[in-house]
Amino acid sequence: MSNNTNTAGSTSVGQIEKEFAPKGSLQLYSHQSVQEFVCSMCRKEKKSKLAAFLTNKPPTDPVCNGCYGTQNVMKSTGSDDGDGEKKKGAISGVSSAP
Ligand SMILES: [Zn+2]
Repeated sequence: MSNNTNTAGSTSVGQIEKEFAPKGSLQLYSHQSVQEFVCSMCRKEKKSKLAAFLTNKPPTDPVCNGCYGTQNVMKSTGSDDGDGEKKKGAISGVSSAP
């Protein structure tokens, strides 16, 4: 069995336990223990094993799991803007009788 832990690497936050597949411009990492860091997007202090980093830069600016999720949501729904009008029409057709 190989016991070389150096291959896992590390981020500015801590030692990497697991790398997830990149999504968009961000890649999520799970660290070997709970880490404290300040999210580079929302600027809030976080305590988590999970932190994401931009794939086009060295892993020095941690992004919290919440902002990572928001980025992915924005990617998948941001392109299509026509649904809002349809919903408006549906709501006005429903009468709110008590
Ligand atoms: Zn954040």
